[in-house]
Amino acid sequence: MIGEATPTGDRPDVFSGVRDDVPDALARHLRAVHLIDHHVHGTFTRAVDRAGFEAAINEGSTDPVPAFMTQFDSPLGLAIRRWCAPVLGLESLTGADEYWFRRAQFGPDELTERFLRAAGVARWVVDTGFKGDQITTPAQMTALSDIPSSSVLRLERLTEDLLEAGISPQEYPEAFRAALDDAVTDPHTVGVKTIAAYRTGFDVDWSRPPDADVAAAADRLVARGGELRVDDPVLIAFGVHEAAERGRPIQVHVGFGDRDLDLNRTDPLLLLPLLRTITPVPVMLLHCYPFHRQAGYLAQAFDHVHFDVGLAINFLGVRSTSLVAEALDTAPFAKQLYSSDAFGPPELHLLGSVLWRRAMGLVLGDWIRTGACTEEDAIRIVDMIGVHNAARVYGLT
Ligand SMILES: [Zn+2]
Repeated sequence: MIGEATPTGDRPDVFSGVRDDVPDALARHLRAVHLIDHHVHGTFTRAVDRAGFEAAINEGSTDPVPAFMTQFDSPLGLAIRRWCAPVLGLESLTGADEYWFRRAQFGPDELTERFLRAAGVARWVVDTGFKGDQITTPAQMTALSDIPSSSVLRLERLTEDLLEAGISPQEYPEAFRAALDDAVTDPHTVGVKTIAAYRTGFDVDWSRPPDADVAAAADRLVARGGELRVDDPVLIAFGVHEAAERGRPIQVHVGFGDRDLDLNRTDPLLLLPLLRTITPVPVMLLHCYPFHRQAGYLAQAFDHVHFDVGLAINFLGVRSTSLVAEALDTAPFAKQLYSSDAFGPPELHLLGSVLWRRAMGLVLGDWIRTGACTEEDAIRIVDMIGVHNAARVYGLT
């Protein structure tokens, strides 16, 4: 263990530089409240080199960072230097090279411990479906952060696992139902997730397919050979409708993601046919940027629709204040949730929390100062979005 900071870390003072803009009681509350991070992934289990780190702080590209630039010169890079440097015992806004030199002195577990403990989170709700061999499991996250975790089951991963395990296409519909029945009896699994955005886009037929069509689609997938990758709307619509019938919240990746995804086909308004017909379990629209205004509208229009602006909060850095303000445009406050969508570098698990608190303080502080709401109202809004809505939807205590 090196450095001066204790493993529990001191949470950065999220209102340094803007104290007068955030009324005292709201600021005190935003510094203290423990958030439920309702959509998050693990942290890197192995040390990454600088190129790997810089690639991990660029969501869109799948190429190495070009030699003429550094990803530190981005809103997220600035935010890392601003808010994460002090957690490693450095001056705020220390240079990128100094930051990297210091960071490289810590092992992956030490980094996870420091940043996750400083995040002020009450519970991680973890999506385990992506690159699971490179990142910490929910149990490891809990051991390193001393914060409890729950998990979310990816529907496409479940389909691939079943068919890879040798379930025949004919048996598949029944096997999928049985696996879902099992999953929902596990109290640790509080929801399911679909990455239809990555696999088909949203402009597909969302009607519920009969079992014969599902078996035929499974047969086509297996016949293709190689590593299975579910990208058939029949299989995806089947999974979503079956999951909805089991009553668990369904998370849906919306918008912002890497360039494998056709961003233009992930506007959540394209989900209208599904939202109108699905068994009305909570549908959690994740990320949503740059479609967060559409998501807010849907959250207002449908009782079962909720949304967050996770991921984008980190990637917008200082500009996340305007994103958080826009996310408050239309949706009832009971329909929005906090998430970091952090994946990989544990800086992201901390930053989501820091940037959200800061943005909520600045935006709601302005509402209070201009007489739009009381300080008590603002604190209640913070608690709903940061804690209570997730507790209600996922049944967390
Ligand atoms: Zn995610």
